Amino acid sequence: MELLDVVAKRMSIAAPMRNAVIDFSKMTVAAIAVVSDETDDEGRPLIGYGFHSNGRYAPMDVLESRLVPRLLAAPAERLQDPESGLLDPVRAQAVVLTDEKPGGHGERAVAAGALDMALWDLRAKQEGRPLWAVIADRHGRELADPPVIDVYAAGGYYVEGQDLAELRDEMLSYLDMGYTRLKMKIGGASLAEDCRRIEAVLELVPAGTQLAVDANGRFDLPVALAYADALADYGLAWFEEPCDPLDYLTLAAVADHYPGPLATGENLFSVHDVTNLLRYGGLRPNHDVLQMDPSLAYGYVEFERMLEVMARFGWEPGACHPHGGHQFNLHIAGGAGLKGIESYPGIFKPFGGFGDDEPVADSRVRVTTAPGIGMERKSSLEPVLAELSAAVAERSGVGRTE
Ligand code: MG
Repeated sequence: MELLDVVAKRMSIAAPMRNAVIDFSKMTVAAIAVVSDETDDEGRPLIGYGFHSNGRYAPMDVLESRLVPRLLAAPAERLQDPESGLLDPVRAQAVVLTDEKPGGHGERAVAAGALDMALWDLRAKQEGRPLWAVIADRHGRELADPPVIDVYAAGGYYVEGQDLAELRDEMLSYLDMGYTRLKMKIGGASLAEDCRRIEAVLELVPAGTQLAVDANGRFDLPVALAYADALADYGLAWFEEPCDPLDYLTLAAVADHYPGPLATGENLFSVHDVTNLLRYGGLRPNHDVLQMDPSLAYGYVEFERMLEVMARFGWEPGACHPHGGHQFNLHIAGGAGLKGIESYPGIFKPFGGFGDDEPVADSRVRVTTAPGIGMERKSSLEPVLAELSAAVAERSGVGRTE
């Protein structure tokens, strides 16, 4: 197998809303197509598609000036498993990250994560299997049936002019879509106002454990502790990112104070950061929740290393509930046995959400049996795949129909 071309495009996922820290009105994402010289049963070129999760801007310069040229310049044997001859995303990533110093992960981790998604999609398509089956094999797990994954509706952002009734209506709409578990933002208003918002949403669900809250790393220690005191009696599913993602001392103090589950990890982009979190963050194994997002953090290749570190510290894969509500994370959760993943009904379209054959019911999703990740079975992604395919045809002639 040879790679004929790799195309990366910046696309918009702008939304008129805020969390406690950032505004999403200019948010972008990088979408990628990795084109092989192989074809499927119907003679179409085998292409792997990828993108990264919402929340980080499209890292186009890293992709176009360093990572993609290295991938395209590599001889085929450096990208393949020597026994099977199949694309090996682990080897490919070693090529992609040649001449990159350790640490300082930032946009490089996001760029590598988006590329990694496309490489895994292509690898699973080479095998003609869904990605969850490929990943399950790597973990020695035998799955007779497609995995069913827990998902929760993440919303409740701060929207200019929105009142409590409108917040409730938003959350009710998620319950109507088949979700039974919800998450909402905190930290973008006063503590008293946030408590009113939380209580308004709690009126909609029978148990506090059906609602999580997310402060997006906003608080210093005194404010985090004040929130911890106020939140404790609600019995919430979890209190997410009370402090800066890299401030492990503050996190440990919050963990010492707050009896309910804490959640963090979506802004840790390397196995070394996760190691430090587990060493110094004071988190309680399999009580707290880890949310590292492969597509933002060097991909599934790095995520496997994170799972190995977690095991050393006594954490089960089931403690992971990744940030990033899209099909790639569904497959990873299914293959590796994670607890569940995030979902963003109605926002971050068309990248957020699941395939047309992956409906949400009772806050759960059965992962597709389509080869690869199954983006071709998500009709809202058709314009994205068409734009990437057109760019591929223009650059390399692959798939050109005239
Ligand atoms: Mg979050």
